[in-house]
Amino acid sequence: MFLKQLETVGFKSFADKIDVQFVPGVTAVVGPNGSGKSNITDAIRWVLGEQSARSLRGSKMEDIIFSGSDTRRSQGYAEVTLTLDNEDKGLPLDYEEVQVTRRVYRTGDSEFSINKETCRLKDIVDLFMDSGLGREAFSIISQGKVEEILNSKPKDRRVIFEEAAGVLKYKQRKRKAESK
Ligand code: ATP
Ligand code: MG
Repeated sequence: MFLKQLETVGFKSFADKIDVQFVPGVTAVVGPNGSGKSNITDAIRWVLGEQSARSLRGSKMEDIIFSGSDTRRSQGYAEVTLTLDNEDKGLPLDYEEVQVTRRVYRTGDSEFSINKETCRLKDIVDLFMDSGLGREAFSIISQGKVEEILNSKPKDRRVIFEEAAGVLKYKQRKRKAESK
């Protein structure tokens, strides 16, 4: 499984549609301070299910919608689409390519889809859980995260190892079954 493409409209500093293509191997994103490098990783974490505005470096979810500039009007919504190559069936879906989309309006309304079929946020979170790309995964290490991991309580740190080992899904299912 690898990341093939990231498309966004109205996400943070990206007012217009941007289309980033990745190829297998290493991709480096370079640019001056404040040019939007971290916004790219924020977009990836958001479409994969991030629900904390703070961890996306804002105070409320609306902060991820392009807020306008001297020359541009603000946007009414933010949308991110991530395309993954799934030839190796790293994601448990019978498709060679998997596309997930998330959109949020200023009203707070959200839309989610997997391969253009409307779904719930939970479906996206479940799809990526234990894939190594999940919401709790170790695959995206943002600025400050290393420190956070080192300073976290053993119980919280354990979640990171459980996701890496692929057992988080089963633990959550067990907890859900027990609560019924
Ligand atoms: P550094 O090298 O300092 O880490 P960076 O390239 O990672 O910088 P980002 O943090 O990705 O930069 O981008 C920050 C920029 O995004 C700021 O200029 C900020 O004003 C802009 N920005 C964030 N949210 C929005 C928004 N909702 N609307 C418009 N611009 C936004
Ligand atoms: Mg940055």
